[in-house]
Amino acid sequence: MDKLVDRHGREVNYLRLSVTERCNLNCFYCRGDSSSCSAGEHDAVSLNHEDYLNIVRAFASSGVEKVRITGGEPLLVNGIERLVKDISGVKGIKEITMTTNACYLRSMAGKLAEAGVSRVNISLDSLQEANFKYITNGGLLNQVWEGIEAAVEAGLVPVKINVVLLKNINHREVMDFARLTIEKPMDVRFIEFMPFGEHSREWEKYFLSLNYVEEACSTLGEIEPVEGDHGAGPARYFRIRDGSGKIGLITPLSRHFCSVCNRLRVTAEGKIRPCLFSSQEVDLRPCLGQADPVKSIKKEIKRALEYKPDPGKVAQGVASRVKQMNKGSYNMNSIGG
Ligand code: SAM
Repeated sequence: MDKLVDRHGREVNYLRLSVTERCNLNCFYCRGDSSSCSAGEHDAVSLNHEDYLNIVRAFASSGVEKVRITGGEPLLVNGIERLVKDISGVKGIKEITMTTNACYLRSMAGKLAEAGVSRVNISLDSLQEANFKYITNGGLLNQVWEGIEAAVEAGLVPVKINVVLLKNINHREVMDFARLTIEKPMDVRFIEFMPFGEHSREWEKYFLSLNYVEEACSTLGEIEPVEGDHGAGPARYFRIRDGSGKIGLITPLSRHFCSVCNRLRVTAEGKIRPCLFSSQEVDLRPCLGQADPVKSIKKEIKRALEYKPDPGKVAQGVASRVKQMNKGSYNMNSIGG
């Protein structure tokens, strides 16, 4: 089996595949073009089932073993279970995970598990009904909880909850999230707010370094770092003593992890994004209509790999990273997180 190793010696074995730009929620820190934040049928940019499958086939035969399906909201895609099932049949794919807002997970968790999803990351930025509604522009918290319960029942564990930390929006809920990890075998991962979407220019208003989380959690009990393999992700983990679950910190801005970056992203419209800190893209769409699409996608994957920047040369420090991100035309519901 081939391996994908970039010019800086990093092995890429992880694909984040966005399968739609549409989302049923409209989280204010994520949204770019608000037309994509609607659950309607209209999906101007997304590729079709066979295209996504060919993309996965090309990545798998290049050496990628893990696929995370994301969006937009992947559960809005008609036939998502079939796509998962077909991806699980691709030679070389060992793990399929999904990032979802869980609103529709209650009825789908079992089918997804059966089709081949092994774990889910669930975005949940508030434990308070009114605040959740405010952040998501109308989301219903109880739907997410039902989705989480269904995921646990279906064996999609450990469930990981993703929380984007937002100053004066949800930062006072950090302790409540931390208590969840004491009571339930659930991991909660805090993510630094990155300057994407329509609020990117007022990023400073909402950004809070994750040091805040560590300090707040230490008031709940002794903190124990948790070492080891935590999946393909960049989170640093700790546990509050005797807690059932872990707390993760994902710090793309304040303490970045470019030197161990193991991933390529593909947007819903079929463009490879080699790095979140560069607006460079490699468009796979011209490959899709060709006689041997997998072969030509593989060539483009190699080209995209060349664009993964030198980790030492990616902007250093929070301010310059923010500046770098603000230069690009980013849209999280297209990139998929
Ligand atoms: N709809 C799915 C969901 O809600 O999980 C998948 C797509 S969502 C874009 C993927 C992840 O990106 C979520 O965990 C979300 O919180 C994160 N995200 C979106 N905008 C972000 C931002 N500006 N900074 C940091 N994380 C962001």
